[in-house]
Amino acid sequence: MTYLSEHFTLEECYASNVALRKGINNKPPQPYIPNIERLCQKVLEPIRNFYNIPFRPNSVYRSAELNREIGGSTESDHVQGNAADIEIPTVSNYDLAIWIKNHLEFNQLILECYTLGNPSSGWVHVSYCNKNKNEVLTFTKGQYIAGLNP
Ligand SMILES: [Zn+2]
Repeated sequence: MTYLSEHFTLEECYASNVALRKGINNKPPQPYIPNIERLCQKVLEPIRNFYNIPFRPNSVYRSAELNREIGGSTESDHVQGNAADIEIPTVSNYDLAIWIKNHLEFNQLILECYTLGNPSSGWVHVSYCNKNKNEVLTFTKGQYIAGLNP
């Protein structure tokens, strides 16, 4: 195991059941590892420390092949290891998105597929790049809208 920050390992940042099942190599190339490390330190670790609840990111690095397989955007920040999809046990994804918006720097923050009244629905996508746009979006019913508006 290679720890990239106090609580997060490189291995959990590229683990993928889909990649396993389909025989896709999802190991990040060396040049992307600093991106993954930065994401752990600037995004995942502050969230982990604030909530003090262990969680594993659902998805961080995705090879182009894996990203195609799951139908991700070709410009997805995941393909260079710059984005994470997260959910935290017992925390509403809407509340999580609000906390990130108010406390962290990021490139994009997207509240995805969240349904009001169902706290565990959907997930939060957050990315961190060299130039951060601090863009906040909600993806609901097949479209992106500005802000956190489930
Ligand atoms: Zn994502």
